[in-house]
Amino acid sequence: MTRREALAVLGASAISQGKAAGSIIRTILKDLPPEALAGGATLFHEHLSLAPDFMPKWISLARAQNPQAQSQAKAAPPPPQAPLSDRPYFMRDLDLMVEEIRAAGKEGVACIVDGGHPDMGSDLDFLKQLSMQSGMPIVAGCGYYSQPFYPPEIGTMSEEQITRELVRQARTQPVGAFGEIGSWDEITDLERKVFRAVGKAHLETNLPIFTHTGIPGKSAVEQLDILEGAGVKPQRVVIGHLGNLVDPKVEVHKAICKRGAFIGFDRQGGPGDARQVPMVLALIDAGYASNLLFSSDLSTANQIKRNGGTGYAKTVTVFVPKLREAGVSEETLHGILVDNPRRFLAFVPR
Ligand SMILES: [Zn+2]
Repeated sequence: MTRREALAVLGASAISQGKAAGSIIRTILKDLPPEALAGGATLFHEHLSLAPDFMPKWISLARAQNPQAQSQAKAAPPPPQAPLSDRPYFMRDLDLMVEEIRAAGKEGVACIVDGGHPDMGSDLDFLKQLSMQSGMPIVAGCGYYSQPFYPPEIGTMSEEQITRELVRQARTQPVGAFGEIGSWDEITDLERKVFRAVGKAHLETNLPIFTHTGIPGKSAVEQLDILEGAGVKPQRVVIGHLGNLVDPKVEVHKAICKRGAFIGFDRQGGPGDARQVPMVLALIDAGYASNLLFSSDLSTANQIKRNGGTGYAKTVTVFVPKLREAGVSEETLHGILVDNPRRFLAFVPR
């Protein structure tokens, strides 16, 4: 090997570790070097600050659309009719959330990405307080969720106007990713417009992108087509919720990995795990371990520790042990939990 070839290999491996010169992970409190998060798992798709009325709307829309599949797939029974206590909604209860997130830190979580934005009711000041008081680095998302949740003006804004607004969010707020950016069912024209605008805003800002697909993984390939068509490199994208696309042959999953994108198994740590362990094994066997990302998309109060749930670390404490038991090596698990999300989140700001 010549010296030049050796340097090229070194350079490639540095980039693969998320260490491209000047690359950072933008947490809500400060930009971090990717090495700062080497000590634990980064959960790339969770919810820490939804509006109290977000999940009730989500669940009623999902039920109207598909009575069985949708409500099961969030790995959550419907919220109880009566509040669990006289406390405020859990994602507006700072002391409670600090306790939950500290517990996740003790269970091996080094960083949490919040997939919310204004149309889901996320509150950046709440996330800042939560990060400061819990000591957990938090990456805040920005963008728009999916058509049933868009603010009405999205209908009349041009693609260019949406792009300008997304760039404004990315440049003026302490956000570290576009996400979750979704199509609710089969992708609509309005959602295509937002996806193209997110792609363009990515080119201007370099923020990574993670998506939401409707069950089961609807329009997953088209989401990537649109983003790539706008000039986004697949390596900067996670196509989300693909654990819902139950297929022992993992054909769509492989096709997306082959193009270089990440895929999200991101509703983990619950009853759906059993169907997804074989898919994860098939993808690891096919050589795609470096394209996998895990998270739990925690969205409902019954899942937190205070209410008897397994809490924000359940990806690590519930799902990962099942993979370990199925024979996945520690090295591979470390790559998926610790290295892949850092490589996804790290970017050189523009
Ligand atoms: Zn989500």
